[in-house]
Amino acid sequence: MFDKIVIANRGEIALRILRCCKEMGIKSVAVHSTGDRDLKHVLLADESVCIGPPPSSQSYLNVPALISAAEVTDAVAIHPGYGFLSENADFAERVEQSGFTFIGPRSETIRLMGDKVSAIASMKQAGVPCVPGSDGPLGDDDEINLHLARDIGYPIIIKAAGGGGGRGMRVVHGEAHLLNAISLTRTEAKSFFGNSMVYMEKYLENPRHIEIQVLADTHGNAIHLGERDCSMQRRHQKVLEEAPAPGISTELRNQIGERCARACVDIGYLGAGTFEFLYEDGEFYFIEMNTRVQVEHPVTEMITGVDIVREQLRVAAGEALAYRQDQITFRGHALECRINAEDPDTFMPSPGKVNRAHMAGGPGVRIESHLYGGYTVPPYYDSMVGKIITHGDTRNIAIARMRTALTETAIEGISTNIRLHQRILEDSNFQQGGTNIHYLEKKLGL
Ligand code: ADP
Repeated sequence: MFDKIVIANRGEIALRILRCCKEMGIKSVAVHSTGDRDLKHVLLADESVCIGPPPSSQSYLNVPALISAAEVTDAVAIHPGYGFLSENADFAERVEQSGFTFIGPRSETIRLMGDKVSAIASMKQAGVPCVPGSDGPLGDDDEINLHLARDIGYPIIIKAAGGGGGRGMRVVHGEAHLLNAISLTRTEAKSFFGNSMVYMEKYLENPRHIEIQVLADTHGNAIHLGERDCSMQRRHQKVLEEAPAPGISTELRNQIGERCARACVDIGYLGAGTFEFLYEDGEFYFIEMNTRVQVEHPVTEMITGVDIVREQLRVAAGEALAYRQDQITFRGHALECRINAEDPDTFMPSPGKVNRAHMAGGPGVRIESHLYGGYTVPPYYDSMVGKIITHGDTRNIAIARMRTALTETAIEGISTNIRLHQRILEDSNFQQGGTNIHYLEKKLGL
């Protein structure tokens, strides 16, 4: 196992990784910006290195600073967490070339999955169901493109191969708008992502977002840990997640899960990953793969008992996965509410000093947060300040525990979205389960 690793991230995920290191006897190096000296994991790490001023571009995205932090502390590996450089193939390659282990897939796998056209092509080849589409980038021939769209059937969506963060996409409802939409999306794609390649897909009108968690090692083993339902979204950002997804049968779970695990073996995947699907009328449609740990990984941990971060560290160090597929069982139901420092009505960020923080507790309640009384939430980063996860034998128990936990949580000094979560939990359609990706925005009247 690694002797010492650098945690190249901040906030709750850095604390999550740090706790795992402590459990496994791995020494930890926290890196932080000048605005982040008081982060909880920085105070608890074995060592810490300041890597630059608060703007991410000068600290958490500063590759040479991160590599030197590993060099000066004699660390042997780097955990990228999520966001920042976690899905940056050039960073993973620099880490590898500098003689450190990148805790994640090989850089070429990140590159393959980072380009949506090549990701879809390799998933199709591996037998993973994809959205009907253009099977590759669109060319310049208008007639061919019109023909392709007619075959797929409107509405369709034009997407940038290099897109991300919900940008570089355009829905087209009829033939009259197709050619213009292709050229606009191309221009945008070129300026946002430096890659003008675009492709075409059937636009699914009322899908759910359901994703499959996988783990793979260097010994040819790959397993799936079932699915998560992340349909409760606002502006393509997940708000509340759950596992299992309401209404998915064991048979369907195993079928799609096994396809994903097999695809991992086919592409030589390593580490933790997520296959994201849109789900409509009983069918799964692959949209993209996330080659890192995800914010919502705890709901899967709660129902499987598998520590995903621990497995990431183990397989990165060359060990075999601690579980075979037939050892994975699913118990009960888990929910996660993302707690953001933001106004619950306007969604404007609400950074500032936390005067008092009282976190919930009790049976089946897990808190992942770096907040403490006296901590100041800086204005420079993502507004998520923690996650409340609840688990119970049934979905109703998990919901009841979440209600209690939200009521018990008292964060003073900043605004949070706790009231938004309370509204979702009171909603009868949410209680029934299985709402689609547009539900929350419609409910909020957006
Ligand atoms: P990004 O990498 O920018 O997040 P994704 O490919 O994951 O892009 O798509 C983001 C979101 O856009 C999806 O969660 C879904 O809401 C919508 N979307 C993408 N493709 C389709 C499609 N074919 N049909 C309907 N909605 C889609």
